[in-house]
Amino acid sequence: MRYAVLSDVHGNLEALSAVLADSAREGATGLICLGDAVGYGADPNACVELLGERVTRMVAGNHEHGALGLIDLDWFNPVARTAALWTREQLGPDHAAYLEALPLTAALGEATCVHASPRHPEEWDYLISAEDGWSAFPDFSTRLCFVGHSHRPGVWSLGSSGPDFEDLGGPEGADRRIGFHDGRRYIVNVGSVGQPRDWDRRAAYVLWDEDARSVTLRRVEYDHRAAAHKILAASLPRVLADRLANGV
Ligand code: ZN
Repeated sequence: MRYAVLSDVHGNLEALSAVLADSAREGATGLICLGDAVGYGADPNACVELLGERVTRMVAGNHEHGALGLIDLDWFNPVARTAALWTREQLGPDHAAYLEALPLTAALGEATCVHASPRHPEEWDYLISAEDGWSAFPDFSTRLCFVGHSHRPGVWSLGSSGPDFEDLGGPEGADRRIGFHDGRRYIVNVGSVGQPRDWDRRAAYVLWDEDARSVTLRRVEYDHRAAAHKILAASLPRVLADRLANGV
């Protein structure tokens, strides 16, 4: 079975559609979403619907909880707070109910799925440095853990030959394939579909090949100008439109 594993769509329908088309061409028949389907972008309802029709597993992110009023928006920066309040007004009752029912963690085969960190998922810690990732291994029991949240793709691993960390951010990370070795465990950050922050504006996601026991980072061009135009038309903060062109 081959899965598209994606995160941080952030209401960017153009990016999500491009990623789903790419993953279909690559033979993925399963779909895992690691949360933050909404927030920042102009199409929260359409993204929730598209994901809801297709996902095999989906977990909630901090932007779901922010938009639903499940966490205090004082934790959000002013731009994220503005976007969360706008998203709250946009969400239809069925969409909100769907997001409210999402778990914080989910298991699938050899993988644990969580938005931010397997350690206290409700605290939304960022795994960014090599040490951040290595310290999170005691907090899940499967071979693999998929995370998002930082909007930066990378792979941490631990095993008998020592710790390893590969930053897959930027153009150099595109199409990098990492095969799983016996006796090692892995945390994979799949990057962001709808708002990359690693100086590569293309949408990021990971193909997980369960049988070949590997992950491959994909980067996908999409119509970022159309997504940015919708953000401006919705009177959301301009920075949210600008960063789609800059990839940071
Ligand atoms: Zn996010």
